[in-house]
Amino acid sequence: MKHRIAFITGTDTGVGKTVFACLLVRHLLRSRIRVVALKPISSGGRADAIALHLAQNETLPLDAVNPWHFCAPISPTAAARLEKRFVTLEQVVRHVRRFSRSLPLTLIEGAGGLLSPLGRNFDSRDLIRRLRATPVVVGLNQLGVINQMRLTLEALPPSVADRAQVVLMSPRIPDASTASNAQWLSRLVRRNRIHVLPRLPAALRLDPALRDLRVARTLGAIARALLE
Ligand SMILES: [Mg+2]
Repeated sequence: MKHRIAFITGTDTGVGKTVFACLLVRHLLRSRIRVVALKPISSGGRADAIALHLAQNETLPLDAVNPWHFCAPISPTAAARLEKRFVTLEQVVRHVRRFSRSLPLTLIEGAGGLLSPLGRNFDSRDLIRRLRATPVVVGLNQLGVINQMRLTLEALPPSVADRAQVVLMSPRIPDASTASNAQWLSRLVRRNRIHVLPRLPAALRLDPALRDLRVARTLGAIARALLE
């Protein structure tokens, strides 16, 4: 069995990483694929970790989904410093491997964007490299996303960027660029690695969203690519 790790990062904070991760984990579990979703490090509220915890039917304790939580709503590294604590890359890698060793797929949600400080001297890019994970870069399908997506992909080593999956989440109110962003991005990223999710009526009501055929098909394509 291969033991794949997908790392869900984003063009920015608040672009829909958690909604996407919850949908994907739910889709995988319904397809009877053994998977866990972790948010190893969080700061501010713990809502993301709780959403992931619920999406996987509470099979893992919340503290396993999210072992490092810092209170201040600033970058995890800065929040940790306020509490005179720190997390090392090795600690996170060890925690992820406890799960990934025995599973076909492990999903990791980062915090913030690719280069947001996560712990002591490391960010999501370092974790992706160290875990040999496939990056899934989530962005909001609105004006500006092409630049943000390019910046994120350019920041990855070319061999890693080559296997990245790109997910465009539909904004609450589409703008004049929403319909054509995927097309423009396809000049940069192969078309089959760009995935567009339609607007979900109530983002975290997962099972109704999964009944939407377009959502199910898109998640199926992403799942296949990640398990490849
Ligand atoms: Mg999130």
